[in-house]
Amino acid sequence: MKRTGVFYHDICGKEAYSSLAMGVEDGFLAIKNEGFFSRTGVTYFESRPAVEREIARIHTPDWIEEVKRTQWWRVSLYSIGGVLQATEKVIRGEIDNALVIAGVGGHHAHRDSAWGGCYFSVTGLAIPHAREILGARRFAIVDTDTHHADGVRHIFKDDDDVLHICFCGADYSWDDTPGSLVENKTKLCFPHGTSDETEIENVMREVPDRVREFKPELLFWICGMDTHQDSYGTRALTSKCYPKLAEIIKDTADRACGGRLIVKTCCNAPPHATAYILPRIVDCLGEVKRYAGE
Ligand SMILES: [Zn+2]
Ligand SMILES: [Zn+2]
Repeated sequence: MKRTGVFYHDICGKEAYSSLAMGVEDGFLAIKNEGFFSRTGVTYFESRPAVEREIARIHTPDWIEEVKRTQWWRVSLYSIGGVLQATEKVIRGEIDNALVIAGVGGHHAHRDSAWGGCYFSVTGLAIPHAREILGARRFAIVDTDTHHADGVRHIFKDDDDVLHICFCGADYSWDDTPGSLVENKTKLCFPHGTSDETEIENVMREVPDRVREFKPELLFWICGMDTHQDSYGTRALTSKCYPKLAEIIKDTADRACGGRLIVKTCCNAPPHATAYILPRIVDCLGEVKRYAGE
């Protein structure tokens, strides 16, 4: 069994960006109610709030002030804090891997603007944090949300120590700069599957070899769930697909970077989906095997 951390704060469930984050609290409660926090290697950590200095590593003072005046400031702090805390614990070897349950998205956040239920670069902020205080350098981000991760892509566009593999597909990119979707060897976009089978095929084809070759010190998986058939994105996947994606990504981390993996989700699928998916992702990360044979 692995030592897996689950990072969540009540504020992320109660104050979640409602039109995107439909199943945040239900997802967390499903993990808790399935008994993962006793008699397994899985530990619950209450996410800490990020502090302004940590956000200012990427975002401009004006943008920080603007978000501060919205209702999304507090939930953003606890969402970012969860990822930063998970990053610290994974890189220091206190835990092997982690699931962070956030109340807002992050991949549409640029340095000085954002859209689509995102305010700050929730996962992106872990990279300067890890470089500054933990001495890590190279990171891979796999993003399987429906939409193009324009914010993350823009922030790290000139950073060859960040491999960014984004599954968005032309139909969902909303980024019409010619050639913007495959920029170079470390910044890539690929299409989504139109079914569980083709999604798994695509991720299997594009992720494991690339990440192994890149040799990151830590792998992040932005596990968007708007690809779920009952959500608002590709509507192509059933709940059963996500635990299978988790197996591929975890196996990739095990082979590429000593298992160091952080899964971030803002649970943008309905409660019935997140309550099914999240315990199974934790089961996979922690090698608990409670659902083996499903
Ligand atoms: Zn999306
Ligand atoms: Zn993309």
